[in-house]
Amino acid sequence: AKGEPLLQVSNVEVIYNHVILVLKGVSLTVPKGGITAILGGNGAGKTTTLKAISGLLKSERGEVTKGRILYRGADVAAQDPAEGVKRGLIQVMEGRHCFEHLTVEENLLTGAYTRSNSADVKRDLEMVYEYFPRLKERRTSQAGYTSGGEQQMCAIGRALMSRPETVLLDEPSMGLAPQLVEQIFEIVKSVNEQEGVTFLLAEQNTNVALRYAHYGYILENGRVVMDGEAKALRENQDVKEFYLGMS
Ligand code: ATP
Repeated sequence: AKGEPLLQVSNVEVIYNHVILVLKGVSLTVPKGGITAILGGNGAGKTTTLKAISGLLKSERGEVTKGRILYRGADVAAQDPAEGVKRGLIQVMEGRHCFEHLTVEENLLTGAYTRSNSADVKRDLEMVYEYFPRLKERRTSQAGYTSGGEQQMCAIGRALMSRPETVLLDEPSMGLAPQLVEQIFEIVKSVNEQEGVTFLLAEQNTNVALRYAHYGYILENGRVVMDGEAKALRENQDVKEFYLGMS
């Protein structure tokens, strides 16, 4: 049901290359149907947290050395990303990662690789085009020649083509003009509300993230230093001063 814990990260420690301790006991809960944000500056450990959940950590010589990551009650700390996708858990990586030589539509279709019913896939393609009309206009363009915003949309759209229950979204605002950032967050919000997709996003842009997320965790140096309802965090004096640039 909406609101029940879908993902539970408890006291997770991550070490890279057997020596570099990056997460020092991170705990967070992601409720079904919500938008949860992980905030914090450069190098705080946001990306590492998402990768530990999706399984992408393994390909970077990273390892969960302590704690548990439960998704629907199953321990996923050692899964590889393909297993995650089968479970309905997919990560959109920072920096977009579209296949530059494929068209936008071909990119979207690669997201449906786990699915065999072509009528369903076609319907989902139309669903993605409804959320991202811009992608429909650019469907036959080679992805490498589209703008940064379009590539970010393409990466999110491709993830949606796997019919995920949960999307881990890494730094969707990165490198984009404010107006485009707003547009992308608006789309995330409608996908969340209309499709019921759960989002866990990592963002350095605290301001925009706290306007769209329901709940936030602030990470500093591999630890959660504060968490709360987005509204409460927006009004918190320390958050205002250190993360929202007001005082
Ligand atoms: P950013 O917004 O810059 O991505 P972040 O909060 O997402 O920041 P991480 O990317 O998780 O932070 O990085 C946390 C720390 O882990 C940094 O000090 C980084 O240098 C280190 N780190 C990340 N990836 C690796 C890796 N593959 N091997 C070794 N150290 C790494």
